Amino acid sequence: MSLISDNLQAVSQHIRATEKQYNRQPREVSLLAVSKTFPVQAIIEAAQWGQVAFGENYLQEALDKIQFVRENQPELALEWHFIGPIQSNKTRAIAEHFQWVHSVDREKIAQRLSEQRPATLPPLNICLQINISGEVSKSGVPPAEAVDLALRIAGLPQLRLRGLMAVPEPSENLAEQRAAFAALRKIQETLQQRGLALDTLSMGMSSDLDAAIAEGSTMVRIGTAIFGKRDYAK
Ligand SMILES: *Cc1c(COP(=O)(O)O)cnc(C)c1O
Repeated sequence: MSLISDNLQAVSQHIRATEKQYNRQPREVSLLAVSKTFPVQAIIEAAQWGQVAFGENYLQEALDKIQFVRENQPELALEWHFIGPIQSNKTRAIAEHFQWVHSVDREKIAQRLSEQRPATLPPLNICLQINISGEVSKSGVPPAEAVDLALRIAGLPQLRLRGLMAVPEPSENLAEQRAAFAALRKIQETLQQRGLALDTLSMGMSSDLDAAIAEGSTMVRIGTAIFGKRDYAK
């Protein structure tokens, strides 16, 4: 067996065990494989072992991979998730080529994605990215503005608001990790009380997925634990 398949299997087993440990429903947590910086061959290999959903951060790199898979492995019906920062001039390509966007943090970006989503495709699935740790340099809407933004974009015709996403400040401490994810879940609950039918909490990465699953994650975004350490110099 190759390394990627070993890693995928280990991560999946770990998710199943952690669901059980924290009394989550079996298979309630889905796995998004974050393939940024890795070659398309790594994606194809993971897909051949059953992985369907892939997350990418850099638009041009992602478009090249999406096109390669469509042309060379059309039998692999992959689901593409955009999880990186979004500039206005990139919204059209995102709206045309992805099924999910996790990193919406401005009304203008949401409006453009809705306007530019081709009418022939189903609505684009959206998560609002929340700057849950309040870091100055981080993307994401401040928690205090999240409800207002969600209510303003929930009605956009070609979008389907599915939930929230966050990348908390790194911490080695499980209780600290859990506190950040619990704060995201609270915002989700507030939005649900305001009448929004949200079903997705996109939270948890390789180093904090246990805390995320404990606090209600429905989708963990895992790169390193599947594909290995990233080399940004390449
Ligand atoms: C890179 C990235 C991930 C994956 O992180 P790992 O620590 O490699 O699992 C998840 N989410 C976002 C938004 C990312 O940019």
